[in-house]
Amino acid sequence: MKTCRCFSCGGEFPDIDGPVHPYMASSPGCWSVYGEVLAREYSDVSFFEIHRLSVDAYAVQHPGSTDRQSIQSVGVHLIRLCLFLEYGLAAENANNAMLAAGKYKHSFVWLEPPASLGRITVADVAKTKTVEEHKAVVRAWAQSLWDAWSMHHDTIRSWLPAQQVASADSKKQRG
Ligand SMILES: [Zn+2]
Repeated sequence: MKTCRCFSCGGEFPDIDGPVHPYMASSPGCWSVYGEVLAREYSDVSFFEIHRLSVDAYAVQHPGSTDRQSIQSVGVHLIRLCLFLEYGLAAENANNAMLAAGKYKHSFVWLEPPASLGRITVADVAKTKTVEEHKAVVRAWAQSLWDAWSMHHDTIRSWLPAQQVASADSKKQRG
């Protein structure tokens, strides 16, 4: 099948026509492969612990334009990546973290996306053959995105919901 490069993440995907997300801007082939990856993650409970990382990584690798929905989406997904990767947020608390982060979304500002959004894309996740490999690539993908946005880390940390940070910190001390 003919492939083409997604203008946002840079991955190689089938060159197809089809739907895309309204504000996570991608090529139709990239959006369709992401749909396959999500379907795989919903099909087996062993993906639960990394599923939100896939969602966050995809969202911040397709930041879209400066409209309000894009700004808020990128903001909440970067906040959750920060909580997962720097504060050890547990998968079962991911939804609460998202709600807490979303409360402040009206104050988020546009963050100019980095020139490079990393070398791992959802195409690499789709190619994996086993659950363990899939999970390992998702973790590396999420970390590469968090690193790619490093010039905005201070701003993102200033948006962290205080309650989430406090509960993660107290868990760290107990653990
Ligand atoms: Zn893409």
